[in-house]
Amino acid sequence: MTNQTWGQIRENLLTTVGKNNYTNWIEPLEFSQLDGGVATFLVPTNFMGNWVSRNFGDHILHELSKSGEKVTRVEFSVPDSAVMAAPKPRKAEVGNKANSEAGVGDVPGAQLDSRFTFDSFVVGKPNELAHAAARRVAEGGAVTFNPLFLYGGVGLGKTHLMHAIAWELRKRSPELRVVYLSAEQFMYRFVQALRDKDMIAFKQLFRSVDVLMIDDVQFIAGKDATQEEFFHTFNALVDQNKQIIVSSDRAPAEIDGIEDRIASRLQSGLVVDLHPTNYELRLGILQQKVDQFSTQFPNLVIKEGVLEFLAHRISTNVRVLEGALMRLFAFGSLVGREITMELTQDCLADVLRASDRKITVEEIQRKVSDHFNIRLSDLIGPKRVRTFARPRQIAMYLAKQLTARSLPEIGRRFGGRDHTTVMHGVRRIEELMQKDSQIADDLELLRRSLEA
Ligand code: ADP
Ligand code: MG
Repeated sequence: MTNQTWGQIRENLLTTVGKNNYTNWIEPLEFSQLDGGVATFLVPTNFMGNWVSRNFGDHILHELSKSGEKVTRVEFSVPDSAVMAAPKPRKAEVGNKANSEAGVGDVPGAQLDSRFTFDSFVVGKPNELAHAAARRVAEGGAVTFNPLFLYGGVGLGKTHLMHAIAWELRKRSPELRVVYLSAEQFMYRFVQALRDKDMIAFKQLFRSVDVLMIDDVQFIAGKDATQEEFFHTFNALVDQNKQIIVSSDRAPAEIDGIEDRIASRLQSGLVVDLHPTNYELRLGILQQKVDQFSTQFPNLVIKEGVLEFLAHRISTNVRVLEGALMRLFAFGSLVGREITMELTQDCLADVLRASDRKITVEEIQRKVSDHFNIRLSDLIGPKRVRTFARPRQIAMYLAKQLTARSLPEIGRRFGGRDHTTVMHGVRRIEELMQKDSQIADDLELLRRSLEA
């Protein structure tokens, strides 16, 4: 393997690790040698080596083997002083820039993804509040809530919204110093500044920004010194009435290992969460992506029902959804065929399998009893009146459809009923679905809410 082939292989990592990670951790790696199955990369510091090894080692190994290199292990080493004479400068590094010629113009932010704008953000019920809050902050002007704390599960658009705010602010007020970075990068820079005995410059730098955005703040939980520094930065900025925007995968109070005073600081502004996507939002996002891609792949035809199918089946997160669509496009254009249901199922078999969320019988029972406004005990219990029996059959039907449980297993969860009873119930609903549109609607609603 040469440095050049590594350069090509490296590109593939861009999609797996994301642009920020790529710029910060992958790009600076310098391929050194491949010997006896061990690929060695040069890194500027041990810290970085450990970091990359722990977080991206497997990805790198995987990409290397995928492209046919005989590699069993990857190692990262700091060049010894002889080689050190001309270390590859870290692009994203602030350390030495900050202390000397840096001046105030140098803002230690990460790069923004040009795709993450408000224009490309699809708004739906699950994210409308977060979106509105982000819009509000992006308008600039007087700081009304500080910090804005956005939280939600992975892939729901936190980073997208933060970048969108940054783009918008830069457009409206180019004079503002808007800094976006992940908590991980914040820590990295902090550690670096400590090591380089550069703390004063670090502090000055972070205290001189107008808008500070820290992504994935849960990351600093348990990292005491970084937390401490973050806390001081935070307070200094709030005191100057500078806007802070923070994201996390969970609510402030639920971040384990974060100090109470920091948690309470974090929730002192506006806390909004991004809810898991629903079917409509997923479909909207897919449609928007199709519009975007269609300039890239002008001849591609997507058959009716494919997007709906994807929105139905891939409910894990938007990133997976996007990845799936990308793959479909790439595949469709490669083989020059229109994208049919069949192609979709072939091409995405693994994604579809992996994203099959495990819906439980208990969940179904709860949803169904809520939906029909009856007690769970009546749904499961022995009473045979129609008001209980029909919902019960619907629940059995859904259990059969949406879980991997066998008929006897389902029977057991419905008060120890026999599997033939379950079978009868399932068949009954199948019949009714055809002629009773009310039942069909109920089923569709329940299925959606269970799969959401
Ligand atoms: P998070 O930071 O919450 O883990 P991201 O912001 O990185 O998630 O979003 C993951 C991917 O999904 C990104 O490519 C983003 O553009 C896309 N995405 C998420 N939500 C939306 C949305 N509402 N509209 C358009 N794209 C979205
Ligand atoms: Mg993110």
